[in-house]
Amino acid sequence: MVKPKQEFMVSELNRLREVGLYNNIRTIQSPQGAWLIIDGSKVLNLCSNNYLGLANHPDLIFEAKKILDEFGVGPGAVRSIAGTMTLHKDLERVLSDFKGVENSLALQSGFVANQAVIPAIDADAIFTDYLNHASIIDGVRLTKAKRFIYEHNSVEDLAAKLEEGKDAEKKLIISDGVFSMDGDIAPVDEIVKVADEYNALVMIDDAHGEGVLGAHGRGIGDHFNLHNGEIDIEIGTLSKAIGVVGGFVAGSNVLIDYLQQKGRPFLFSSALTPPDVAAAIAAIKILEKDDTLVKKLWENAKYFQKALKDIGFDTGKTQTPITPIMIGEAKVASDFSKKLLQEGIFAMSIGFPTVPKGEARIRAMLSAAHEKEDLDKGIAGFEKVGKQLNII
Ligand SMILES: *Cc1c(COP(=O)(O)O)cnc(C)c1O
Repeated sequence: MVKPKQEFMVSELNRLREVGLYNNIRTIQSPQGAWLIIDGSKVLNLCSNNYLGLANHPDLIFEAKKILDEFGVGPGAVRSIAGTMTLHKDLERVLSDFKGVENSLALQSGFVANQAVIPAIDADAIFTDYLNHASIIDGVRLTKAKRFIYEHNSVEDLAAKLEEGKDAEKKLIISDGVFSMDGDIAPVDEIVKVADEYNALVMIDDAHGEGVLGAHGRGIGDHFNLHNGEIDIEIGTLSKAIGVVGGFVAGSNVLIDYLQQKGRPFLFSSALTPPDVAAAIAAIKILEKDDTLVKKLWENAKYFQKALKDIGFDTGKTQTPITPIMIGEAKVASDFSKKLLQEGIFAMSIGFPTVPKGEARIRAMLSAAHEKEDLDKGIAGFEKVGKQLNII
């Protein structure tokens, strides 16, 4: 029985189903990895952001268990009152070294990190890429700044918008480093140059860059060889390649000092749990030591993407292991995903509002957890369904 005052939810859900945008959330009955159990069947996992296969790595499990015995399960409080443990400080030291910055601040998630930083900066004007992640959009909504949305990855349009807003005192440019739906990379080298001309702060969200781009997966800064604080604020996540959960901000000492006084999710929401922190430290240590997993991720991505293109699929403009398979209509993309699952392949369709209308797609996520046979199985499934649905 739906109460009359909740009827609007029913009609909206019906509308979503009609246009193929209702998201059927699958329940996973196994640990993360190359293969998953869904509804009792074993399926190839092409959905997770577990780029390096660390979510179920023995070193991370070992360290998390050890710390459970020493520190328990909960952080006890928000960090600014009584929730900062030596463990959190250790993580921040390890993250700062990994990213090559002065300091960093661990937060509950990448999403939260954007809510911590953007309102705290309290800019007069914000210049934000049209395709920025939802957590950036929501962070911007929490401010009173004048908004300038520039064309996706267009430094020319960014410069024009900066010129238009040049009288604003405090200016902040925000961009994803890697765009999660297309896999393309922001021209951060050019963004920092134009930012300099207009004395604007640069904030880059490297959620899909850490563990993926740069030497040993150090991320977007290393990818562009920007090691001298050109990026004022870097947002990171511990929930993707790092394999755990959590987020962080990386930058100068003064930035981190400032955020510890001003970042509301830092001040009003409890800290990461001890096992999360221990596992994240273990993950960064693996990356520091050895880049085998990062290399394998890229080999897998190149192999899979080339095969799909050779078959005739359009993989968009990806430059990273994020692999969009462009379909067009949301309904067709959703049918494609369902048929793939019947073939034992788990790859989600993505439609509006996550991507623009008419640009629905399947997004396949590659991982170092995949072996070549796994990828071959995936490629064969895509070919079969692509032919059935007249896409290739
Ligand atoms: C995934 C993602 C986030 C959110 O990270 P979580 O740690 O999962 O909250 C933030 N920003 C971007 C660009 C992302 O892709």
